[in-house]
Amino acid sequence: MSKLPRNLPTRDPQARTFPSAWKNSYFRRNYDENRGGYVCPDCDKVFCGPADFRRLEAEHIKPQADGGLTVWENLILLCKPCSLAKRKKDRARRRQSF
Ligand SMILES: [Zn+2]
Repeated sequence: MSKLPRNLPTRDPQARTFPSAWKNSYFRRNYDENRGGYVCPDCDKVFCGPADFRRLEAEHIKPQADGGLTVWENLILLCKPCSLAKRKKDRARRRQSF
């Protein structure tokens, strides 16, 4: 079952992208009070404020190419460099598994 927070709009799990309201909510829910911002889970950099928020990408934890769905549980926010690195890594891993 989806653990989508109640105040958020539902999304077709097959949709390509996450709604911006989800990205917003994820950012606020995972805001680290001690460090004063959202900490990118991959590079540990702190992001705070609207300008930094725009530097974060809503990513699928399990890539769509691997059957990952556009559901709340599969959402993660990564900074742009980490998002690119993840996509590259996921692609490389898929190539290897062929
Ligand atoms: Zn990062």
